[in-house]
Amino acid sequence: IIKPDAVRKGHTGAILSQIDQAGFRIVAIKRQSISKSEAEGFYYVHRERPFFNDLCAFMSSGPLVLMVLEKDSAIADLRKLMGATNPASAEEGTIRKKFAGSIQENAIHGSDGEDTAAVEIGYWFAGYELI
Ligand code: ATP
Ligand code: MG
Repeated sequence: IIKPDAVRKGHTGAILSQIDQAGFRIVAIKRQSISKSEAEGFYYVHRERPFFNDLCAFMSSGPLVLMVLEKDSAIADLRKLMGATNPASAEEGTIRKKFAGSIQENAIHGSDGEDTAAVEIGYWFAGYELI
């Protein structure tokens, strides 16, 4: 997910280009706004965290870009390309280092495992959208 901060600042194209250059195939993609309750469902695992409410308000604050990406080692490779959650500690050249403003408004989300990826893909996409 390209998060609302990055879409708002006009970084969508640059981030898509970096994802493309890194060898990912974009299997599905859509730009849309989500409601706060949709964000709450998506981040359900974080419901007890102190930043949960702010995070869900942020994620529903403007359009974002939802994608399904395919590649060998896609999960690990995307997380490497994203950089650390906190852009202050992200490696040079990573998407978060280049485009994120804070630990919360950190430009991009990537699934952290095959099981969570399967749930997250099903959360945003119907089967007929995955070609
Ligand atoms: P993501 O799940 O979005 O790919 P991540 O796996 O690097 O990021 P998580 O620990 O899963 O990080 O946290 C989910 C999201 O919650 C972060 O990307 C960030 O937007 C927000 N977040 C995490 N920690 C904090 C914090 N301490 N303060 C504010 N927001 C936070
Ligand atoms: Mg995470």
